[in-house]
Amino acid sequence: MRYRIATIPGDGIGPDVVAEARKALEAVASVSGFELEFAEAMMGGAAIDATGEPLPETSLEICRRSDAVLLGAVGGPKWDGLPGDKRPEAGLLGLRAGLGAYANLRPARMFPELAASCPLRADIVAGGLDMLIVRELTGGIYFGQRGQDEGGDAAWDTERYSRAEVERLLAVAYGAARARGRRLCVVDKANVLESSRLWRRVAMETAALHPDVETSFMYVDNCAMQLVRNPRQFDVIATSNMFGDILSDEASMITGSIGMLASASVGGSGPGIFEPIHGSAPDIAGRDAANPLATILSAAMLLSYALNRKEEAALVEGAVAAVLAEGLRCADIASGAPAERVLGTRAMGEAVARKIREAAR
Ligand code: NAD
Repeated sequence: MRYRIATIPGDGIGPDVVAEARKALEAVASVSGFELEFAEAMMGGAAIDATGEPLPETSLEICRRSDAVLLGAVGGPKWDGLPGDKRPEAGLLGLRAGLGAYANLRPARMFPELAASCPLRADIVAGGLDMLIVRELTGGIYFGQRGQDEGGDAAWDTERYSRAEVERLLAVAYGAARARGRRLCVVDKANVLESSRLWRRVAMETAALHPDVETSFMYVDNCAMQLVRNPRQFDVIATSNMFGDILSDEASMITGSIGMLASASVGGSGPGIFEPIHGSAPDIAGRDAANPLATILSAAMLLSYALNRKEEAALVEGAVAAVLAEGLRCADIASGAPAERVLGTRAMGEAVARKIREAAR
């Protein structure tokens, strides 16, 4: 079996972390007897510098012809002054829309070895933390009509959702809930927003079709609070684009470090996009200081969701758990305990690839 993976290194620490995730994928392929063909595509600031466009058509075409897309991160201060549609982030939105990836799956899982990095009281997260946020990704306020008046003294963005957009997102969320703890919390602001009232209406209808999953509803402000008060109450959260953006970053910090969190953007007929939730971290770029584990865990999601290689995905996740259990850390997840050894980006990537090969022996 041969799979084609498009890699988009992007900017800042993106190329460094993608290189290490690629090593993990190559290690898995070598021990599992399938072949991977990698095709690199440009996006973000790197693409702007080379072509003037954040997402050249050739890059989108490389992705469309692949089984999955592995992405680092884009953006940085060098391109911050550009107009909105020419900025690196426009490439990201264009890629998601171009591949029809409308559902963003963001697991927030705390490895027991990293409990000390959790900013919450130990009793709140005792027993670990494992939730999944399913965020709508191609609709809502990030894609709605926007503008400003002539003088620039007033501006507006529009949140608009259709029934079909909500239904297809919920279908992914119920699928995920069924594969996990069978509990789904739909988060909205139905007490204020008309678009949220549509979400609530459609979600209540959909819930009736899924009696095997326990469905609950929560306002987004309460959810933001509950995430720090009692995060263990959540299994799967389904929500709109902007609410999901904010809540998933909050959930990520509860688990310790943004450098540990993976994501998958799936749906539609195009290949899924697999990327860490962090950005290009310009403050540590080029210093071999980035934690590659979020991108390596994104590669595990790629194996599971895009290639349906569940065992191989578990192999990668197991290798990450094993290096942590051995005391290996990147700087962002180091607690200073004497048993820990702090590694750079490359050494951490190599340690995970080695563990994958050892575990398969
Ligand atoms: P960021 O996630 O890049 O960095 C936030 C903080 O987390 C920084 O201190 C950074 O050093 C640290 N950090 C992030 N990833 C890390 C890792 N793997 N290991 C260790 N530390 C890590 O967010 P930001 O600073 O708000 O944004 C920087 C740039 O990234 C901006 O241009 C932004 O637009 C872009 N961005 C891109 C994406 C994406 O491509 N998906 C997502 C978010 C931000």
